[in-house]
Amino acid sequence: MRIILLGPPGAGKGTQAKIISERFGIPQISTGDILRKAIQEQTDLGRRAKAFMDNGQLVPDDLVTGIVHDRLAEPDCSRGYILDGFPRTLAQAEALTESLKGQRGGIDFVIDIRADLSRLVKRLTGRRLCKNCQQMYHEEFNPTKMKGVCDKCGGELYQREDDTEETIVRRFDVYESQARALESFYASSGKYRPVNGDLPVDQVTREVFAILNH
Ligand SMILES: [Zn+2]
Repeated sequence: MRIILLGPPGAGKGTQAKIISERFGIPQISTGDILRKAIQEQTDLGRRAKAFMDNGQLVPDDLVTGIVHDRLAEPDCSRGYILDGFPRTLAQAEALTESLKGQRGGIDFVIDIRADLSRLVKRLTGRRLCKNCQQMYHEEFNPTKMKGVCDKCGGELYQREDDTEETIVRRFDVYESQARALESFYASSGKYRPVNGDLPVDQVTREVFAILNH
């Protein structure tokens, strides 16, 4: 089973990808992870990607697509995979379709975890991390016993710089415009399936499994 998982930052996409990966025994392929690995192993593509990142630029579509293409050719992907964070743009989606040509119909499902912006803001602005052990808390949904102090190690809590409302809204807008282009691209092939990401995690999982087992 070949799955693409879409969803804005903070919608729980990584969590669902992990659950699907374990349930179906297929690898979770995250663009961030494989880019880091290609750079670490100093592959040709990895070296070229690093040059862009060192200059603070986005890695171009054709490079990202090339790195993903190589990863999908590895043996553990023969029974399928979950793509997490790829494709991000329409150009990447078109390139992926092209590179999967001749492989038994390509992608099976595009699952889009839709989430409401105001709920994402609430979820992300309330996040707090321990400076010492990196344990994650939430002011409202998972608070510490003593405000600002880690339950596990007594360390001081902090808020990540990009967990501000302004940054979250900006990231969401960029994500949404790209995601709607992907939606219309995949809707025409009948593989697009939206899921309500505002539900609790286990209910989202149930919806996703209902789609995949159909
Ligand atoms: Zn701690």
